[in-house]
Parts: sequence; structure tokens; C-alpha cells
Amino acid sequence: MIRFFNTLSRKLEPFRPLDPGKVKLYTCGPTVYDYAHIGNFRAYIFEDLLKRFLKFMDYEVIQVMNITDVDDKTIKGAQSEGLELEDYTKKYIQAFFEDLESLNIDKADYYPRATEHILDMAKMITGLMNKGFAYRQDGSIYFRISKFPNYGRLSGMDLAKLKPGQRTEADEYEKESVQDFALWKTKKEGEPFWETDIGAGRPGWHIECSVMSSKYLGQTFDIHCGGVDNIFPHHENEIAQSEAYSGKKFVNYWLHCRHLIVDGEKMSKSKGNQYTLRELLEKKHDPAALRLLLLATHYRKMLNFTFAGLRQAEASLQRIRDFIYELENRKFKKEENKDIPKLVEKTRKKFIEGLSNDLNISVSLTALFEMIRRVNINLAKEKLGPKNAEELLSLIYSFDKVLALLPEKEKTSLSVDIEEKIKAREKARAEKNYELADKIRQELLESGVVLEDTKDGVRWKIKKSK
Ligand code: AMP
Ligand code: ZN
Repeated sequence: MIRFFNTLSRKLEPFRPLDPGKVKLYTCGPTVYDYAHIGNFRAYIFEDLLKRFLKFMDYEVIQVMNITDVDDKTIKGAQSEGLELEDYTKKYIQAFFEDLESLNIDKADYYPRATEHILDMAKMITGLMNKGFAYRQDGSIYFRISKFPNYGRLSGMDLAKLKPGQRTEADEYEKESVQDFALWKTKKEGEPFWETDIGAGRPGWHIECSVMSSKYLGQTFDIHCGGVDNIFPHHENEIAQSEAYSGKKFVNYWLHCRHLIVDGEKMSKSKGNQYTLRELLEKKHDPAALRLLLLATHYRKMLNFTFAGLRQAEASLQRIRDFIYELENRKFKKEENKDIPKLVEKTRKKFIEGLSNDLNISVSLTALFEMIRRVNINLAKEKLGPKNAEELLSLIYSFDKVLALLPEKEKTSLSVDIEEKIKAREKARAEKNYELADKIRQELLESGVVLEDTKDGVRWKIKKSK
């Protein structure tokens, strides 16, 4: 049985999707006013782990991730660069998709953009006004929180602090200043606007997600995710808008990841400790190691990013790669080790148990590394047969459907090139041209490939860790 911690109930709950075998998942996507930083990717990788694990457990998953391409931040960014909103956000949208690729994050089924759903938003806002949940003030339209008794349930707010009748136009504000919030902001000088039935203007941030989630997943769906900073006001407001409009429960399970911090401090531009994925890749860090680092701490624990931690993740990943290399390249004796099938079964069970318990990845990874440790002992003693190796490899590759640390690309295209170079080096050695042989060895080393001369011939392995 799979269990998740539901922010709404503050409890671990057994997971039961609305349609057996099918999961509808909404994940708040990027606000495209800058390059995503690795904190954002902690959220997206937690969501990727969730999705991949559900798929691994044979659920069909339909995932929607919105792109917030109009809000206070994107407008401000475009204004400061003197660009049209679309020209400004374009670059960050493209970068975001490239980054997803680098981190091997499974693609969502839909990436709806806010600017392409403005009329749907106007329609929902009209419905909210007709039902008395929204009112107009100076051309803008606000949600009346006093009309929605469940307001504050998700974030656990003291309802006595509600200040009905006070309004905010800002997309983001603190819990302490909870107020009626803007659904629609009337046209302003120098800001982009859309002509609609409810007037000329632009949407508030929160209505965007209420509209795009219900459009692609229906008015009630299974899981909604984000980082803890999304709980208030964003998700609180989404619930209010969606449930007031439809009269139905909006979401059954709310899952939120805690933040990534850097060297013990909140990541922020002003402190200069904000890293984008691109910056780390430029410094030649391995994206798969970063993926492992972001994945390996339970999503409800704070994750402290350090370069020492990243190097450790690089070393752990190297252990997995070395292990696979051994299993794929050793010449095994015929005799099988009878203990291996039991070890494989035990490891599979633990791996699934860990993730089933609110995505407790630490248990699953411990099981994997413990298995590697034990098999390595057997490898050293030459107590492994070819079938054993096959079974172990198939287990690791099945785990990798969840972990996604071993991209196919790397194995195929790279290896052809490396094999060519190894042949050239062999030839040079046979011709006693040691200078050339050493030169080739050095070239390979510089591109992260280590050669080993063994009694079975030359072998290579990728060593990206620095
Ligand atoms: P934004 O682009 O600001 O709307 O954020 C995109 C996603 O990243 C949201 O789900 C946020 O909750 C999440 N997020 C932002 N900062 C962090 C952080 N430091 N650690 C983890 N998640 C974060
Ligand atoms: Zn959202």
C-alpha cells in the first residue's frame, strides 16, 4: 500500500486515486522571469520521483505542469528590460525545457501557459461573481474570503486573523496579511492586458492554476504538488477559487517539499548563493549526480546544498556505474551463486517499501547500496555466475525507471567513440609508439574516461567525478 503525507490533513494517508489505476497530478510550474535555480529543481525532481514511482507501480499518470508566463514578476522583468512580455519569457521557457532534459525529468503530458488561457480565466471569474464569491473594486475583481468558510484550512491559519474587506493586488504576500486577493487586475499603464467580458486587464497568479488544472484534469483530481512556499497564499487561494466555483472538492492529496538551502542559508540572489543548473553544468558538474543529490533526501526534510554533498553524490553515482560496468564486462564462470536471487528479491522489496512509505527514498537507496556492497564482495571472490549478473542488472535497470540516473544516450553514442580511440591506442602500443598511446590515454582521461589494462584486455569506465 502506498501512503502519502497530506498537507491538508497533516497525516499519512493511504493513497487511493479517484479512478483505480489512474493518477491525475498537477504540479505548479515555473514562473518564467529568470532561469530556474536548483531549489526549484528540488521541487521538480521530488515531483518526478513521485510520478516515476507511481508509473513503476503500474499507475497511469496524467501530469500537468503550468507555465506562469504572466504575473507580477514576469511583468516587472519585461518592463526592466524594455521587452514585450512574450519576448521576455520566451528565453526562460526554452531554458526551462533544456534544464528538464539535462536532469532527465520525465515530460508532463501538458504544459499549459497562462497567457493562452485568459478567456477561461475570465469565465471562471464571472462564475465566482455570479455566486457572490467575487466582487469588483476600482475595475479589479477580488475574491471574498469571508464567504468561503474553509479558507485557511490548508495552511492552518488562525481564522480570527482574517481581515475581511481588506484587499491586496499583489500575487505574493505573507500569512500575517491575509486579505481578499485579486482575481483580475484592471488594465494599467505600461502593463500587458487582455480584452475580455470582465473588462481589460490581466489575471492574478492564483486563478491561473485553478483554471489550468481543472481544464486538463477535471474539477476534482488526485494530487497537487509544489514547494512549501506555495501553501500560502497560492494553494490556499486555489482551493478557495476552485471549490467556490465548482462546489466540489478540488484536490484529494496535497504534497509539498521543503526547501533547499545553501550552506545553511536560504538561497537568494542578494546573498550570491543562488545557483542555476546552468552554472553548475558550466563548472562541469555531472547533472546525474545533481539529480541524485536532489533526490536522495526525503522531500519533507530540509536539504542543505553543499559542494561536498555534490561530490559525495558524484562518488555514489560512480559506485553504481562501476557496479554496472563490472556486471556487464566481467567474464563470469558458469557456476551461479544461489544466494543472489534471494538478495535480489529482498532488495526489490525494500526499495518498494521505502518509496511506498511517503516516498522514503533513503530506505530505497540504502537497500540498493547495501546490495552493491554485498555483490562486490562476491565479485572479488569470483562467486558470481552469468545468470546472477543478468538478474542483478535487470533489477538495477528496473530501479532506474524510478531513479533515472543512467541515461541511455551516454551508454550508446559515447561508447562507439571511446571504442575507436581504444583501438587506436592498442594499435599504437602494438607498434611500440608509446608516445601516441599515452597521448590517446590522456585525451580519454580529459574527457572523463579511465582506461584499465587487465588480463582480459583493456577496459574503460566513465569517471566524471573531479
Ligand atoms: P516559482 O518559479 O517561484 O513559482 O517556483 C517553482 C517551484 O519551485 C514551486 O513549486 C516552488 O515552491 C519551488 N521552490 C522555490 N524555491 C525553492 C527552494 N529553495 N527549494 C525547493 N523548492 C523551491
Ligand atoms: Zn500554481
